[in-house]
Amino acid sequence: NHGIGSWTARRARRTPDRPAVVYGHVQLTYGQLHDRTTRLAHHLRGLGVRPGDRVAYLGPNHPSFLETLFAAGHLGAVFVPLNTRLAEPELRHCLADSGASVLVHTAAFEAFAGSCDVPRRVAAGAALDERLAALPATPLDVPVTHADIAIIMYTSGTTGRAKGAVLTHGNLIWNSVNTLVDGEFSAGDVTLLSAPLFHTAALNMTCLPTVLKGGTLVLEDSFSPTRTLDLIERLRVTVMFGVPAMFQQVAAAAGFADADLSSVRMLLCGGAPVPEALIRTYQERGIGFLQGYGMTEASPGVCLLDADHALGKPGSAGLPHFFTDIRIVDPAGDDAARGELLVEGPNVMRGYWNLPEETATALQDGWFRTGDIAAADEDGYVTIVDRAKDMIISGGENIYPAEVEKALHEHPAVDDCAVIGIPDEKWGEVPRAVVVLAPGAEATAEDILVFLDGRLARYKIPKSLVFTDALPRSGAGKLLKPHIRRTYGTTS
Ligand code: AMP
Ligand code: MG
Repeated sequence: NHGIGSWTARRARRTPDRPAVVYGHVQLTYGQLHDRTTRLAHHLRGLGVRPGDRVAYLGPNHPSFLETLFAAGHLGAVFVPLNTRLAEPELRHCLADSGASVLVHTAAFEAFAGSCDVPRRVAAGAALDERLAALPATPLDVPVTHADIAIIMYTSGTTGRAKGAVLTHGNLIWNSVNTLVDGEFSAGDVTLLSAPLFHTAALNMTCLPTVLKGGTLVLEDSFSPTRTLDLIERLRVTVMFGVPAMFQQVAAAAGFADADLSSVRMLLCGGAPVPEALIRTYQERGIGFLQGYGMTEASPGVCLLDADHALGKPGSAGLPHFFTDIRIVDPAGDDAARGELLVEGPNVMRGYWNLPEETATALQDGWFRTGDIAAADEDGYVTIVDRAKDMIISGGENIYPAEVEKALHEHPAVDDCAVIGIPDEKWGEVPRAVVVLAPGAEATAEDILVFLDGRLARYKIPKSLVFTDALPRSGAGKLLKPHIRRTYGTTS
């Protein structure tokens, strides 16, 4: 087994007694993690899981997340992490689309799991632990190559439905290598992860590199700025990953000025543009601030700005990773000073699961079209200047307006609508709906927003809704978003 499923065995051989995972009062050494993972692999095999089968996972950060990831890899099966923030219809889409044969879930998702069509369900917890204790801890000998699929990660898109990015073991390994070359993980690391593991950066840029080096992962199932400060002091945290909104909240927390942050060496931040003032706040405390730019489809690292250049290259996303190449092209596909950013490298996905047409559009001659507009300076440092795709980033979660507009159109009183992002101090951006009511229809903003509850993940539901008589559209009927943003994006 050359895949990531072999990592617990390889790690346990070197550092069996070193703590691998800390979760509340639970502590697992690398030896124990390997033992539990292997038993879980036996259990999953007993449920019929064979190489290539999909094993979905639904739950917040928890040791069973990692155990399921590595157990699936152990069996040559494909791990499918699901975003717990999605609404039930959205989750059902991911489960059906991936064709998962097993759903592993935490206690909080018992009711949902019971209502799913997935053939087999496994609840993490004491009852499972008891069953695992009776199973063998002898490794199963399943051949896995770098070309085999390791995970399918669902990511939203302009089509209004989540697409599964197919990532191979090779993709994940090369992303880890990139991260270790350009980042600063070490064997003594205590890595705090309160950002959800079902997101690519937390899993692939933070958790996997920590495991590779044999560091300790501190898993938190939710994020709290004051608990973050407390954990940093108590566990002598050295590395933390977060989106800008999280680091902003930590810096604004009451205890920040007096907290002992001397153990922290590196903060990894990504997923959205990072305000310069935020970098300065942490650098002033002697903490290196690395910011990453990437996407699910690139496993995810594309560019990284190291701590030494964080303030010298303000606003930049940094240099492309060591083993990853980029191009900046104009609409004709020729190299340009400013244009769409394309990515190529061993970390770029194989394609979208069961979507050959979308794959062909996204991946051309091995180059992934990011839909982000970038420019590079004379030293090759990349700055993301705009988005060609219509997308909102709110607290690190991406929102595709098309998806929200589709849901709004299902409301009988909505004749036309547009969703735009408006600036927000806490979340970076938040979605706003602009709605044209159907002739004679009467509905309040609240009526319409309540209608979206349960249909869309909560973070996608507009924070405000304004009514208008008509929305500007192009001759081809396309919403004129820049115009709509100018008109409705600033008023409160
Ligand atoms: P996801 O696939 O959910 O990880 O989202 C990827 C998208 O988030 C990228 O294509 C960018 O539009 C945006 N993004 C990620 N990191 C950054 C960053 N550092 N600066 C600006 N935008 C970013
Ligand atoms: Mg995406």
